[in-house]
Amino acid sequence: MTDSTAAWAGGRVHVRAPGKLNLSLEVGDVQPDGYHDVASAYQAVSLYEDLWAQPADDFTIAVTGTVDVSGVPQDDRNLALRAARLLAKEVGHTGGVHLDIVKHVPVAGGMGGGSADAAAALVACDALWGAELGTAGLQRLASRLGADVPFALMGGTAIGTGRGDQLSPALAKGRFDWVIVPAEGGLSTPEVYSRLDELRDRHGVDIAPPPRSPAVAPAVLHALRAGDADALAEHARNDLQVAALSLRPDLRAVLELGEQSGAHMGIVSGSGPTLAFLTGTPEAALELQVTLAASGRTALHVHGPVAGARLM
Ligand code: ATP
Repeated sequence: MTDSTAAWAGGRVHVRAPGKLNLSLEVGDVQPDGYHDVASAYQAVSLYEDLWAQPADDFTIAVTGTVDVSGVPQDDRNLALRAARLLAKEVGHTGGVHLDIVKHVPVAGGMGGGSADAAAALVACDALWGAELGTAGLQRLASRLGADVPFALMGGTAIGTGRGDQLSPALAKGRFDWVIVPAEGGLSTPEVYSRLDELRDRHGVDIAPPPRSPAVAPAVLHALRAGDADALAEHARNDLQVAALSLRPDLRAVLELGEQSGAHMGIVSGSGPTLAFLTGTPEAALELQVTLAASGRTALHVHGPVAGARLM
């Protein structure tokens, strides 16, 4: 039985796609098209979105999950449904599809959950419709859907430049153990970028100016290649962190608690407000998870790198 016939069981295709962390995120100046030039090291982690696709006359979606999904549109604004429509147009598919999504990645949390759903929809519909677009074909569609969608397809550890969507795989040794702390409410990615621009304009003395050519520091690449959590903690960087913390000052106390409780470092994930704490071993992650949970926070132990969107 091939991968795609296994995933077909019960007339539905099941795909799983991972959330991501930014291990390094340098944000340059805003470009004439309104986007910022960025350079990021991404890592896919073991917090997944599950998506099932089945034949239907129209394009419909139902979203549930273990996270608050009230902010997720269940119509054509949903990125997964847009992905399905885009693929249908590309391959000339005349019917529709029904998508069932079970979300585990916090919504508007800076972990690319919507992008993971879109990547999952591309893989699922490609299999369901026998389109066989291949990795390059799916990647091309992914980059039209959003900056983080190509990485959700690729998975692993990668460097992204441009808007973050020009990807090249990065070597990473072993596994990195993280404790994720989701925050209530979510943050809008465009709002976090605007706050960063505002802070840079107004408080240029306190904040480093935008790098002329954003890049991932060689020390971060070294740390990944060596599987060295200590070194990664020392060199990880997120230019959006100052903006996310300015919008959500309550996160500072959680960052401090995590760092005082054994984490090598705590960092805002992407545009936040999810926090990610890096530990040295699975046991250390478990201990930190228990400490953070005892303080009343939701804390999840995940690891990376893991594979991108794939048929189950
Ligand atoms: P980003 O990729 O911008 O860092 P994020 O991880 O912070 O995003 P997402 O959970 O991907 O946040 O969603 C951001 C917004 O996109 C949501 O507030 C929601 O309105 C919209 N959205 C569209 N489709 C989806 C989807 N399938 N899942 C979640 N949000 C979606």
